[in-house]
Amino acid sequence: MDYLEKIPVPPKETFNVGLMSVRNDRMLELFGHPVKNAKYLPSGDCTPVNNATFAKRLETRNVGPFKVTGLKPALDSMTQILERVKAEVPDLYAMLGTAGMHCARFTKIRQKNGTLKIGPGISNHSWGTAVDIKLKGQLDTQGDKITLRGLLVLSAYFNAASWYWGAGFSTEDAMHFEVSKGLLAKWKQAGTI
Ligand SMILES: [Zn+2]
Repeated sequence: MDYLEKIPVPPKETFNVGLMSVRNDRMLELFGHPVKNAKYLPSGDCTPVNNATFAKRLETRNVGPFKVTGLKPALDSMTQILERVKAEVPDLYAMLGTAGMHCARFTKIRQKNGTLKIGPGISNHSWGTAVDIKLKGQLDTQGDKITLRGLLVLSAYFNAASWYWGAGFSTEDAMHFEVSKGLLAKWKQAGTI
């Protein structure tokens, strides 16, 4: 299978079934702001975390194909997801790379004219619950409703573990996977977070 083939994102009802992305108000309620004075978040660039309580929840770890910094239970979950990918689709696994996980910043949304709109939303990357995946070094282009085939294959594995695929955002972001609202609620109930 050509995992780098560019294909249209399938109809939205066919993926992320029963899964929702997490809104900023819920993230702030659960974790607080990773950067205590939000005025230090002026751009789409990564800003150092100065919330010491939140910083303790993050860890840098090898999750199989790459090393990332993220929320600890998200790293546990992603390690399991990628173990399954390795066992079942080893040729896809061999292509996996990342454009990063934790990064405290505003959202960056590609506009129709190609420019990036920064904020006012806070990216879920800020809390280390989202990851951007590259295939053989290639990044999917945001907002064109096209995905690399390998990301679609991968989405089934992330969805099965209750991670939301960014292809479902109003501005398609097929390289992006994040812990769903339901999975965070489960962790909260279990005392994991
Ligand atoms: Zn992302």
